[in-house]
Amino acid sequence: MIERVSAGGRSEREEPAPRARSRSMKPAKPAKPGKAAFDKKTIALVYDFDGTLSPRPMQDYAFLPQIGADAAAFWKESNELARREGADALITYMRLMYKKAKAKNVRIDRADLVAQGANVELFPGVEDWFDAIADYVKLRSESHGLSLRHYVISAGLTEIIEGTKIYKRFHNVFASEFWFEAYELPFPKRVITDTGKTQYLFRINKGLEDLRVNINAHMDEAKRPIPFSNMIYFGDGDTDVPSMAVMRKNGGHAVAVHPPGKAKKKCVELFKAGRCDFFAPADYRRGSDLFKRTCLLLDRILADIRVAEEMWRLGRGV
Ligand SMILES: [Mg+2]
Repeated sequence: MIERVSAGGRSEREEPAPRARSRSMKPAKPAKPGKAAFDKKTIALVYDFDGTLSPRPMQDYAFLPQIGADAAAFWKESNELARREGADALITYMRLMYKKAKAKNVRIDRADLVAQGANVELFPGVEDWFDAIADYVKLRSESHGLSLRHYVISAGLTEIIEGTKIYKRFHNVFASEFWFEAYELPFPKRVITDTGKTQYLFRINKGLEDLRVNINAHMDEAKRPIPFSNMIYFGDGDTDVPSMAVMRKNGGHAVAVHPPGKAKKKCVELFKAGRCDFFAPADYRRGSDLFKRTCLLLDRILADIRVAEEMWRLGRGV
């Protein structure tokens, strides 16, 4: 979903609500000659899900209790299995989920997973964050035609995220997904690994959110609709390092979060290694450190957009 921001009470072009996730999104159209306008005015806030928007892995809230599995034991078994077999950790967890369900004679399909999303706990303030950030951008924006988007890139499951209260807030959700076929165990359809996450950052950057479109073809910086400098990535740990590195190396921004009142060791490590601009407790309420630090980054993004727009305008006249 696009949080439309119109400055000075002017009515701005309303972008369509996202349709079927990622399938029907068309690449941004190039501006028509003679009707050119500065078109780098979309800001993208991109979130990891588990540990970033929600305290625990999303499977812990309903899937694992439903099959009578202890969450800590499940993840330990899955990680040990992956290590022992030299298997991909994510494919291994997706397989183990359904092996465990089958062993308990519990049949779980897409609709079940979506329904489980309602049980996913969110960090304080997450539900109101999207409106609060839109209000802030609107307040501080002196440039017309800005739009603000939120995205999720997660190794977790699309189906569960779809069932959460905040799903409709996202312009697009890129997460792992299953094939569901009658009489068969579900099979991984898309697996989003730590490094695989970076592909989706480039998809957002290049406006190629339709997964059928090849992401690897060269695209000039000038043609990319959402420059990295207009993007902020939010993550919570080592699995976010490749994404944070891509953001920072390309002029983008990254914020690390840790559970409020709990250890911030990992965040300090990321901060000291230059992986993130800021870190803060995962408290999304207005006025929290996370809110204030995000607003600081937004101030910088908004100023950069105004500078770039002015340079662009000046460049057209000479
Ligand atoms: Mg995480």
